[in-house]
Amino acid sequence: MTTENKLNICISCNRDENTIPLVAITYAEQQTWICTQCLPMLIHEPQRLEAKFRSLKIDNPPERKIN
Ligand SMILES: [Zn+2]
Repeated sequence: MTTENKLNICISCNRDENTIPLVAITYAEQQTWICTQCLPMLIHEPQRLEAKFRSLKIDNPPERKIN
């Protein structure tokens, strides 16, 4: 994958924040973003996204923690 840009993207549809509003979410101790169009799907069918969260190779956190 060549996602070298720094734009935040939706975990579900991969659209970036220039295309659609993104909402920060956290799940399984992973912080990421989801767009407003995918949010209802997450609410109604969270299992569809669970695998994505679990396989997340996050380059996409809202803010990195400095630990
Ligand atoms: Zn989306």
